[in-house]
Amino acid sequence: MIAEIVSVGTELLLGQIVNTNSTYISQRLAELGIDVYFQSCVGDNLLRLQSVVLQALSRSDIVIVTGGLGPTDDDLTVSAVAGVLNRELVFSQEVLADIERYFSKTGRQAPETNVKQAYVIEDCNIIRNKIGTAPGQIVEDSGKVIVLLPGVPREMTWMMETSVIPYLKEKRLAGSGVISSRVVRVVGIGESALVEELDDIMSTQTNPTIAPIAHDGLIDLRITAKAPDQVSADRMLSDVARKLEGRLGELIYGYDNDRLAEVVGHLLAERRLSLALAESCTGGLLGQLITSIPGSSEYFLGGVVAYSNESKMKLLGVRDQVLASYGAVSRQTAIAMASGVRNLFDASVAVSVTGLAGPGGGTATKPVGLVFIAVICNSLVAVGKFLFNGDRDQVRHRTAVAALNLLRKSLLASGTAKG
Ligand code: ATP
Repeated sequence: MIAEIVSVGTELLLGQIVNTNSTYISQRLAELGIDVYFQSCVGDNLLRLQSVVLQALSRSDIVIVTGGLGPTDDDLTVSAVAGVLNRELVFSQEVLADIERYFSKTGRQAPETNVKQAYVIEDCNIIRNKIGTAPGQIVEDSGKVIVLLPGVPREMTWMMETSVIPYLKEKRLAGSGVISSRVVRVVGIGESALVEELDDIMSTQTNPTIAPIAHDGLIDLRITAKAPDQVSADRMLSDVARKLEGRLGELIYGYDNDRLAEVVGHLLAERRLSLALAESCTGGLLGQLITSIPGSSEYFLGGVVAYSNESKMKLLGVRDQVLASYGAVSRQTAIAMASGVRNLFDASVAVSVTGLAGPGGGTATKPVGLVFIAVICNSLVAVGKFLFNGDRDQVRHRTAVAALNLLRKSLLASGTAKG
């Protein structure tokens, strides 16, 4: 079975919203062993929408259209598909009752415009909408299946889970195998260096495949296996994950949905350590990442954003002489900041960052992107010197990620959890 996803909406074409619907639908179809060969995106224009649907029907067995089911004049999906299939629109009393019920729950009356949503394609299977107004529709036509789903992600996923996937399984349209993925999460190495390191594994691998995706100083290695059943797929994924573990060791910080700040949080919590931060060029970004993890109050005491030299001296006790001799962006200042914030908060672990995020302010000896990070963890002091590429935002993000990683490595080196 070949499926195609058609996403409808001018705001998608304008880049105003990200097409998360097609990502989600593709993933779910892949898990069912249905190949998605094409994804199309089209604006709210009747003729172009019809030509995309016509093309999709000419090359795919299952066409899933999302978006454009709303009540306004620019919501054209239902009439466009009806036109392509040469079918009438018919009024559904049942859908109208659903729409009226939807509004009456909040004490409102259904607006006249929403009545339009009670018209569905002749002989379709209606997917009732319990969380919005637009019904989904499944139409069987000349051996093909056309599914219409709302654009609102919550409504679309709900209909996929409760109606479309069960329908595809029941009609035996789902493939005989499964496609399953696992993500191995890597930090502390550049994308090209990683690809080079794994070249022999990646270039010989056809099933499972390994695809690197880099973002903000982190790299996800997505392993995807195609297998007759979930158990075999899981085994294939574990085999490759083990190979990667053997090769990458501590560069791997987690799997699937693990977040770096969460992994660091676990290490701190299980060692019963408290954390304080002194941030200069990241301006609080590191604290933001740490506190984005629920339960971080268990280990995070607080932080200081010490941007100016004065604040580094006044708040963190960095000596004037250190700043004058080595400069604010230096190994010595980073250590002094970490030591100062550790005393200030009486923390067991302290992290500091100081660097040049740019675009201005760089010199030949201290270029933009130069960053020093210090971690004091019990009696251990680790200092990292980094030179990051990218614009101001990228340098700041990469610095925060590198600081989390240096903290992670220091915690791993400081031994196992206290009993
Ligand atoms: P409704 O159920 O409200 O009538 P609809 O089917 O008309 O929805 P649209 O009007 O096309 O859907 O989109 C509604 C909203 O859903 C959009 O403003 C956008 O926020 C979100 N949305 C639509 N399509 C997508 C998509 N492909 N990916 C992610 N979000 C989307």
